[in-house]
Amino acid sequence: MNRNLKKFNGEVVIITGASSGIGKACAFEFADNGALVVLAARRDNELKKVEAEIKKRGGEAYSVKTDVKNIEDCKNLVDKTIEKYGKIDVLINNAGISMRANFEDLDLSVIKELMDTNFYGAVYCTKYALPYLLKQKGTIIAISSISGLTPLPGRTGYCASKYAMNGFFNTLRLENIKKGLNVLVVHPGFTSSNIRKAALNKLGVPQIETPRDEGKMMSASDVAQIITKATINRDKNLILTQQGKLTVLLHKIFPSMTDRIILHEMAKEPDSPF
Ligand code: NDP
Repeated sequence: MNRNLKKFNGEVVIITGASSGIGKACAFEFADNGALVVLAARRDNELKKVEAEIKKRGGEAYSVKTDVKNIEDCKNLVDKTIEKYGKIDVLINNAGISMRANFEDLDLSVIKELMDTNFYGAVYCTKYALPYLLKQKGTIIAISSISGLTPLPGRTGYCASKYAMNGFFNTLRLENIKKGLNVLVVHPGFTSSNIRKAALNKLGVPQIETPRDEGKMMSASDVAQIITKATINRDKNLILTQQGKLTVLLHKIFPSMTDRIILHEMAKEPDSPF
């Protein structure tokens, strides 16, 4: 990406989950390219650090403490953005959490937490931002997952939330296609971030340790660069990582065999629940 081109000059971009990982990397990438970025997450102190860094780099950012599970917080995020900048060009529904436990052992509250955050959080933000995005003929980005296209054992609630996002956002695109709104659904593969440390165990407590080698994964900044390009191109779908692309393709052609390969691979994780 040529930073001199400032592809998003003056565009207002809301990013949920901007305090860490892919959301934080998107905040830097969009701001470096001229966007006015609105940063949302629960940890205000982390948002303020991202905001300060963007301003230090000559960009413009504004933090709004938001818990996307809370409808009023999502409305407030949109209201504050309009008060400050008067429009919304891009909404990135990125905030998310994961889990790791077999459903048989799982406290049901974990499924609810995953759906409330990953699915309903994205629905609430979209509901309030939609009128402004339609006015701008803008873009909604939904950060789904390869786990929104193929199963991942030990992550029933996570997969359910991501499959739900795909159905919702692919349909929203169709509903608004004649109005000039673009909806981009992104399916990242394994990406180095805090997601596996923050993932909930069977009791709903963060597992703290990642069970995978984060160093071997795609970086969040590479994901962010690909997302900015796809936003400019008004792409509709993105599947990331070679492994992710291969898994989705193989699962379409040989579903049973690919299911067995996925289970075998995931069983290699330390303390695997299966
Ligand atoms: P991180 O854990 O690094 O970041 C998650 C972000 O979501 C944090 O900023 C966190 O902020 C925010 N968040 C979590 N819950 C809430 C909430 N209730 N309200 C507001 N913000 C919230 O993970 P990633 O960067 O990896 O994850 C970003 C997205 O990418 C997620 O949707 C994830 O499912 C998806 N993804 C990630 C993959 C990966 O391997 N990393 C693979 C496929 C998809 P805070 O705690 O401050 O609220």
